[in-house]
Amino acid sequence: MSANILGLHHVTAIAGNAKKNYEFYTKVLGLRIVKKTVNFDDPGTYHLYYGNETGEPGTILTFSPWDGIRRGRIGTGQATSTSFSIPEHSASFWLNRFQEYDVIYDNSSSRFEEEVLTFLDPDGLKLELVSHSSKDERKPWSTSEISQDRALKGFYNVTLTLEGYEGTAKLLTELFGYELADEHINRFRFVNKNSETANIIDLVCLPSGKRGSVAGGSVHHIAFRVANEGEQLEAREKLIEMGYNITPQLDRNYFKSVYFREPGGVLFEIATDLPGFTADEEAENLGQELKLPEWLEPRRKEIGNVLPKLS
Ligand code: ZN
Repeated sequence: MSANILGLHHVTAIAGNAKKNYEFYTKVLGLRIVKKTVNFDDPGTYHLYYGNETGEPGTILTFSPWDGIRRGRIGTGQATSTSFSIPEHSASFWLNRFQEYDVIYDNSSSRFEEEVLTFLDPDGLKLELVSHSSKDERKPWSTSEISQDRALKGFYNVTLTLEGYEGTAKLLTELFGYELADEHINRFRFVNKNSETANIIDLVCLPSGKRGSVAGGSVHHIAFRVANEGEQLEAREKLIEMGYNITPQLDRNYFKSVYFREPGGVLFEIATDLPGFTADEEAENLGQELKLPEWLEPRRKEIGNVLPKLS
């Protein structure tokens, strides 16, 4: 019955000011911008993709920045924390860096034998850096200030905060190839058997928690990986058999997507690895130019005039 899900593909969140978002993720955190495009449903707005050197699935955090957007409310039915894997012993470097750049952060804590550093982006989006002992050979992007032995390697896990967790746990274990690996109080850790990285989902059960609302500083959806369209359509059929309402396959230019709401209320996407971010620019030039889908090319000048400058 299991679908061939390969862990996380990307996480999409909502930001306010585009320039602040760009500066924070590329400079302070040192991620690479791997695609600069527009929101296909609202072409006057960017859709920015940050990732590792090659923009691999499992490293991609994306944003639609809307200047002046109200803050969302963090609560149940949401992905409440997105965590990146960092090399062991690099947490002190990041603590110093957060002080230097006035980032709001918490002193590091430990969770399931890992060192976790929690912090907020300029819109209040909750992020974590996790130093751990499991193998992670993904090649990070490095910058003049952040060397490879300190740089973010891609996602470690995502935490979903839910009123009740059983329905989501059933979906993860029965269809998505995850197994319950650990638990502590109300946190349940599920690990995907088909991948070695970006393969953890934590479910935090908060029965009396207030429902979250998605706006600035919150996650809009999380996407899981499949290798190709065949695997995606198979997963889609199985979800329909399980009674889910799921969208038709949509073309996102760099991957194909289907979306559905999981039982805890979080919007899930299943996205293909292919064609990837080199579909319309060379690997060495990723993220340099504004890329538009074909049907928006005739409006390039007009769109370029509306979009704010990022640097
Ligand atoms: Zn998505």
